[in-house]
Amino acid sequence: QASALNALKDIVAVTTDGVRVKLMANISNAADLEASFAFGAEGSGLLRTELLFMGRNTLPTEEEQFEFYKNVALQAGGKPVVVRTLDIGGDKPLPYLHLPAEQNPFLGYRAIRICLDRKDIFITQLRAILRASVFGDLKIMFPMISNVSEIEQAKAILEDVKTALRSASTPYNAAIEVGIMIEIPSAAVMADLLAREVDFFSIGTNDLCQYTLAVDRMNEQVKHLYDPFNPGVLRLIQNVIEQGNKFHHHTGMCGEMAGDVTATLLLLGMGLREFSMSAASIPYVKDLILNTSITAAQEICRTVMAMRSTPEIIQYLQAVTKR
Ligand code: PEP
Ligand code: MG
Repeated sequence: QASALNALKDIVAVTTDGVRVKLMANISNAADLEASFAFGAEGSGLLRTELLFMGRNTLPTEEEQFEFYKNVALQAGGKPVVVRTLDIGGDKPLPYLHLPAEQNPFLGYRAIRICLDRKDIFITQLRAILRASVFGDLKIMFPMISNVSEIEQAKAILEDVKTALRSASTPYNAAIEVGIMIEIPSAAVMADLLAREVDFFSIGTNDLCQYTLAVDRMNEQVKHLYDPFNPGVLRLIQNVIEQGNKFHHHTGMCGEMAGDVTATLLLLGMGLREFSMSAASIPYVKDLILNTSITAAQEICRTVMAMRSTPEIIQYLQAVTKR
């Protein structure tokens, strides 16, 4: 079966009724990106930049970051790469920042919250990404957005950084796309409002699920309650996809659910056309897409959205997913 899946590497994902779906890889560096091409990745829907900041004693300099993003852009060879700005805090501490210990780290000082506060860190990263943007198709994505104001602040800082680069005649892609992670319930509910502010969405089901269900995704005692197929979570995801599509965004998903074959037909039926996942999952998701029609996926979606419980939903999805 492995070799059969390998044969899919150079085939694009198209449904039997001709709808094109983009399958991308979640990566942490240029090496991951290179490896992902063996699985047929069409670029990256999520470059987690945290690794670049972890396992060291000081912040990476602008030059170090520039080299890193430039390498990724060159490795991509024209394929898109969504660069997510620093998502530290929560489950990813950064000892040298000496952040105070928190009662509830997942509800605390993390990601865009740190970046809007520590503008020095944010500006350095944005400068490096913008400078690297002339070497490929990089896009910028802000994590953990909970309201419109955070987008406005982040975009204002990005504009200031662009102005500074322009004044210094430093080249960058002036048309670089800017998007946000949808991973906080408020953002998912008001996707219609946020869609006006950005070029794209990427649904982060790992955090969206954790925050919607009030289940710490790292806590062994409540792990069994962590459930991406909870009908409440599914309604949020559906709303984000619908609103994103209404604004002609390329709405993607980069949480674990994007690589879960049990969810593939449902998400297709909801209207999702970009999936970013760990590269090894790409052939399995592609195999399903190549063998379904959007009409069938929409019917599956209607059926699931009328169901009341996760076991019922999963049992049904597994039955219709069997090949
Ligand atoms: C997510 O929350 O779904 C996500 C992709 O981000 P991370 O897992 O890095 O928090
Ligand atoms: Mg997240």
